[in-house]
Amino acid sequence: MATPQEILNLIDSKYELIDLKFTDMPGTWQHLTVHKSQISESSFTEGVPFDGSSIRGWKAINESDMVMVPDPNTAWEDPFMKEPTLSLICTIKDPRTGELYDRCPRSIATRAIEYLKATGIGDTAYFGPEAEFFVFDDVRYDQNQKSGYYYIDSIEGVWNSGREEEGGNLGYKIRGKEGYFPVAPTDTLQDLRTEMLLTMAKCGVPIEKHHHEVATAGQCELGFRFGTLVQAADWLMTYKYCVKNVARKHGKVATFMPKPVFNDNGSGMHTHQSIWKDGQPLFWGDGYANLSQIALWYIGGILKHAPALLAFTNPTTNSYKRLVPGFEAPVNLAYSQGNRSASVRIPLTGPNPKAKRLEFRCPDATSNPYLAFAAMLCAGIDGIKNQIDPGSPLDVDIYDLSPEELAKIPSTPGSLMAALENLQKDHSFLTAGGVFSEDFILNWIQYKLDTEVIPMSLRPHPYEFALYFDA
Ligand code: GLN
Ligand code: MG
Ligand code: MG
Ligand code: MG
Repeated sequence: MATPQEILNLIDSKYELIDLKFTDMPGTWQHLTVHKSQISESSFTEGVPFDGSSIRGWKAINESDMVMVPDPNTAWEDPFMKEPTLSLICTIKDPRTGELYDRCPRSIATRAIEYLKATGIGDTAYFGPEAEFFVFDDVRYDQNQKSGYYYIDSIEGVWNSGREEEGGNLGYKIRGKEGYFPVAPTDTLQDLRTEMLLTMAKCGVPIEKHHHEVATAGQCELGFRFGTLVQAADWLMTYKYCVKNVARKHGKVATFMPKPVFNDNGSGMHTHQSIWKDGQPLFWGDGYANLSQIALWYIGGILKHAPALLAFTNPTTNSYKRLVPGFEAPVNLAYSQGNRSASVRIPLTGPNPKAKRLEFRCPDATSNPYLAFAAMLCAGIDGIKNQIDPGSPLDVDIYDLSPEELAKIPSTPGSLMAALENLQKDHSFLTAGGVFSEDFILNWIQYKLDTEVIPMSLRPHPYEFALYFDA
């Protein structure tokens, strides 16, 4: 734990510039660079002023003067800036009330932990997200924005696969869904991933591994250690920042969009989670797969609220193009030790109570990690408080089930619209304990409808031309 004074000493020793970063409502980092003269001990309590009126999702605020409060535990030198610049992650405060701003995602994440403590169930929640992404050579978009869509110009992996290369060398290409994970020369992204991973380490993220993923088209995953809720969300933001900027440095682009390529695996953000109390893990026990009763209820809460929860964990129209059968993405609202079509998987972790956790496989990295983690924890807490039985595990191969049996297993929502409608009906588990405000939920639904669902539905889709043009 760093103190403000330690950060001020660090700034004095070598930094003229400080870059203050915060996460907006949809989940993108925004930043403001200030001279060191603008930072003092009080900046860490009273914050640094900025104009919050043009920030996405915060438009509704009448008064735009806001302050960002840097967290001294998030300091690292920004590797993508030419002048030595110290980066600090901030939470937003409303200077009029002196309170954390209720639409600030990082504040919501902080409140989720306070709520966990207030219930007496636990005091710590660990989260471990595994965010996948694609690396492409280039992306073009319609300059006139008439159709308003981007298209992939050239894909590292499509080139690799030899599917689109004319007259080139077709040796050592990744075959369909065999990207996981042959060595070079088939894997052409090794050095890029290594640079991404080592850059993340310089930004304080405890790195673990990197590898190519299953999809043919240049899909990758970098792994870092699990952390506490807010910390893990900070690391996920840092991860995306490093991945995108290292790709850019090499003339490529990286995307966390869940389904950029038709008919290939999509990119998920499986999220491992567990809760602890007084330094002891609460998910180990003598139930199914060595889960405790608390863990089973937590799963019950996740599964019960999943149809609404996905409005935060899978919050884009593209998210639902990933949640389809046949691509290792979950489609069943069920849990299982082995079955990867189940949305909750219990990893085989051996006889180690501290490693006992569940993996929620629905989320993708278009989610805002602060909101997604907070929402999952709220669903789990609701499960524990109300002792929600998760039912029997889905250990059968779903392909062996009869249509009648299959029909009994609920599935993930089919669209963002459906998830938002579910959220409209089911959100008291999120407002319990004041983690999310009613205002925030309604604003989220309206924002997603106005800026994503409705504009998408108004545009002719390229595939509609294939289907209907000469009808
Ligand atoms: N890409 C798969 C998904 O969409 C996951 C693949 C894996 O990590 N096993 O969830
Ligand atoms: Mg993984
Ligand atoms: Mg993976
Ligand atoms: Mg996984």
